[in-house]
Amino acid sequence: MKTKILQLVKELSEEGGVVEEQFKKFHKKTKMSRATFFRYRDELGLREHNKAFTYLGKVNHGNCYFCLNKTQVIHHIDGDRKNNYADNLIPLCNGCHNKIHRLMKRLGDD
Ligand SMILES: [Zn+2]
Ligand SMILES: [Zn+2]
Repeated sequence: MKTKILQLVKELSEEGGVVEEQFKKFHKKTKMSRATFFRYRDELGLREHNKAFTYLGKVNHGNCYFCLNKTQVIHHIDGDRKNNYADNLIPLCNGCHNKIHRLMKRLGDD
């Protein structure tokens, strides 16, 4: 049971996005509390990740870095999800995030 829940928390974090949204999905599936969710995150060593993401979700008044839409994801500039230093993270809406990934793919193909 516990391993299954840890696995779910891990999967949600790998999907990315703001932590609050991850918690909502977690709660929907497990009906477990916020405290439990964050305890599992701690166990997985995701605490720093969490801090940076919560902080960045609020940066720029909670708006996407490029447009005025609401922040929906935190993008890792270098593509490394484990690199959670502030200068590697940028708050984006889904639209701009998709654009960035299309652009990165195109540049990578060169
Ligand atoms: Zn945007
Ligand atoms: Zn991204």
